[in-house]
Amino acid sequence: MRPRAADFARWWHHAPSGQVIVDEQGLILQANQTISDWMALPVSYLYNRPASELFTPEARMLYLGLLAYRVAEDGAADEVHLTLRVEGDAPLPVLCSARQMTHQSADLVLLSMLPIARKDSLERELIQARQEAQLALEEKNAVIAELKSVRSALESQREELKSLTMRLGHEARSDALTGLPNRRHFDSVLQQLLLTLAVNRGPASLSVALLDVDHFKPVNDQYGHAVGDRVLQQLAQLLSSQLRGRDLAARIGGEEFALLMPDTSHAEASVAMDRLRRAIEIYPWQPVPITVSIGLTSFRAGDTQDSLMARADAALYSAKHQGRNRVAKR
Ligand code: GH3
Ligand code: MG
Ligand code: MG
Repeated sequence: MRPRAADFARWWHHAPSGQVIVDEQGLILQANQTISDWMALPVSYLYNRPASELFTPEARMLYLGLLAYRVAEDGAADEVHLTLRVEGDAPLPVLCSARQMTHQSADLVLLSMLPIARKDSLERELIQARQEAQLALEEKNAVIAELKSVRSALESQREELKSLTMRLGHEARSDALTGLPNRRHFDSVLQQLLLTLAVNRGPASLSVALLDVDHFKPVNDQYGHAVGDRVLQQLAQLLSSQLRGRDLAARIGGEEFALLMPDTSHAEASVAMDRLRRAIEIYPWQPVPITVSIGLTSFRAGDTQDSLMARADAALYSAKHQGRNRVAKR
């Protein structure tokens, strides 16, 4: 059975939107139950009241100035944001649409309103979500920045450690006064060369010389320790410049130096040491000339480090004994 007009009228009262019919004078002709429930006022109270009184004083201007104006101009208005008065409670924001209808040659207006509380809460959620996203982004950026600074601190520490290790290694191997390799380094290089000779068993050669400054104590005594130091530094430079690239000069004691000449026969080394002694003799030393004594020896089958060095030492002793400023060979 089809519903009758009375049924539609009943249902209209309980529509999910607030509905009001306004007459040509702007007075409320009819209002449904839904809107009277929202406003907490009986439907009968609303009859014949100006429709603008449905709204808060602030919204009234919007209703009259915008919505009613549009309806008069275009016969319709859509989704105007208004605020309903609620008796004894907070006002209710609504979206109000309107349509002009003609009834027995009178122009009536149907207002239809939907609460926009849900829209507001959606907007609030959106704003909150945006703020949270922004916060998360800022936190992420802060973490990335911190990671970067930790990484660069780590890197600079690693660099520091590396250069410290290198410096320690250098200090362990070299002599502070002259910058030449020290006794420890000399010993380890000699040991390696001897090992290589033992493994190769070939006709390879190796010569070693010990060099000691003659009468150096009087230089210190007469001119002071600092002058003695400078002489030692100059001697170290002279040794380095006189030797070939693969030869090694080390400072192994106060005014004692050791020279390692790999792949150098006794005859070759002998020529080199004579030349070196002469170069030192003629060098323009300041403030006083110095000479050196040199003990030279070369590797022989069966030699150990000790036997080789002992022979070089004995050669040096005999150079001193024979009157200094000379090369003794063994
Ligand atoms: P010779 O070797 O010809 O027998 O005489 P010498 O005077 O050189 O011998 P000696 O071993 O008695 O003295 C070595 C001197 O070298 C002692 C010290 O005054 C000096 N000397 C040792 N090491 C250093 C040093 O690092 N700096 C300075 N300025 N002098 C040093
Ligand atoms: Mg000496
Ligand atoms: Mg000495």
